[in-house]
Amino acid sequence: MSVEQPVWCHKCHLRIAPYDLQTVFRSRAYHRNCLLRLVHQQAQESQPRRALQMEKRKQPLVRSIRKDKSARIKAENTPVD
Ligand SMILES: [Zn+2]
Repeated sequence: MSVEQPVWCHKCHLRIAPYDLQTVFRSRAYHRNCLLRLVHQQAQESQPRRALQMEKRKQPLVRSIRKDKSARIKAENTPVD
């Protein structure tokens, strides 16, 4: 006698077979891939501006590092009295 209860995925609404990778998130069951997609979607929908800001931040940071390097090279080449 089987005691297995059928489990349905909260994202795609298909039954999660016993051999499928099942993940429980916030007391809801998902296929592992469905949960990954869900989390990815939520992250994009809730923080599109933050993601853009992070993209923008990368460039000035690299530039300031380059400035520091060239400044240091100049300082090294400048004869000290
Ligand atoms: Zn699913």
